[in-house]
Amino acid sequence: MKSLKEYEVVIVGAGPAGITAYLYAKRSLLETLLIDKGFIGGQVLLIDFIENYPGFPEGISGYELVERMKAQIERLGLNFLQEEVVKLEIQDNYKLLYLRGGEILKSKSIILALGASPKKLGIPGERELTGKGVAYCATCDGPLFRDEVIAVLGGGNTALQEALFLTKFAKKIYLIHRRDSFRATPILQKRVQENEKIILVLNTVVEEIIGSSQVEKIRIKHKISGEESFLEVSGVFVFIGYQPETDWLRGTLELDSQGFILVDKNLKTSLEGVFACGDCISKEFRQIISACGEGAIAALMAEKYLNEVFKK
Ligand SMILES: Cc1cc2nc3c(=O)[nH]c(=O)nc-3n(C[C@H](O)[C@H](O)[C@H](O)COP(=O)(O)OP(=O)(O)OC[C@H]3O[C@@H](n4cnc5c(N)ncnc54)[C@H](O)[C@@H]3O)c2cc1C
Repeated sequence: MKSLKEYEVVIVGAGPAGITAYLYAKRSLLETLLIDKGFIGGQVLLIDFIENYPGFPEGISGYELVERMKAQIERLGLNFLQEEVVKLEIQDNYKLLYLRGGEILKSKSIILALGASPKKLGIPGERELTGKGVAYCATCDGPLFRDEVIAVLGGGNTALQEALFLTKFAKKIYLIHRRDSFRATPILQKRVQENEKIILVLNTVVEEIIGSSQVEKIRIKHKISGEESFLEVSGVFVFIGYQPETDWLRGTLELDSQGFILVDKNLKTSLEGVFACGDCISKEFRQIISACGEGAIAALMAEKYLNEVFKK
């Protein structure tokens, strides 16, 4: 294994939280590295259209917002590594990050901006038919369902927003939610109720996804009557929440029962000099604007930590 250069801040995750942390760290003239196992942009790359990010009154596509954020950090000199971090270790005041490729990075402080990924239903047929009609990203897979009948599962903002987006393609959408009302913001609920292509199926859970080489139908159960029935659909879009990919941190720093990273109000984790921000932390709401805000605070806190501990 070869040891790489030493950094003042390494930011793991290049979604909006990590990008903003990089912007602030670079403006503080810190020796900074941004790492992501995928592309710069994180989940924002999956969003068709964003209407709630300030400064864009007409809305903006996820791709364009990422391009603009990227251009801003490129102006400061972008130091980006496409790699997966698989282990964190503390060595005195230094932090060691182990990369999947076998390399080790050494840094005085770390900002974890790991985001989250879609939760799975865990029902028969889901795994077997993923990519064959079972999908977790409307922007990526929506165009495959032109003039088809599909199901969208979930009751939060993402589910309703994505159901509305999918009406561009599908001819009919069953919006299936296990409760009798939605958690989503009222404006989205109103739009969904007014859309003729969307049929609400409430108090209902999906028990099985059925199909041989492609999704053909789903078995649903009414939660109150217990009655079971089938809906013929060729696609099932699952938007039932997100889970963090923090297994590699288990035992190293404190996580909540769902695996989200526990932080204090200044985004300090249970490990000195390790900060966390964005969707991967334990909190109520997950949005681009809050991820950006937390990215800024995490970088400022990292700078403060470096000044105090390393007398930078
Ligand atoms: C379909 C959809 C629609 C949405 N619509 C909106 C909207 O309209 N408005 C809004 O405000 N929000 C919306 N959101 C939510 C928003 O995208 C997230 O809140 C935001 O992207 C969180 O930013 P983040 O930087 O915390 O994490 P992410 O964007 O998830 O980025 C995290 C990054 O960390 C990387 N990573 C994770 N683990 C590792 C590791 N071990 N090593 C290296 N890299 C790693 C990942 O590859 C990823 O690129 C939507 C989300 C989805 C999926």
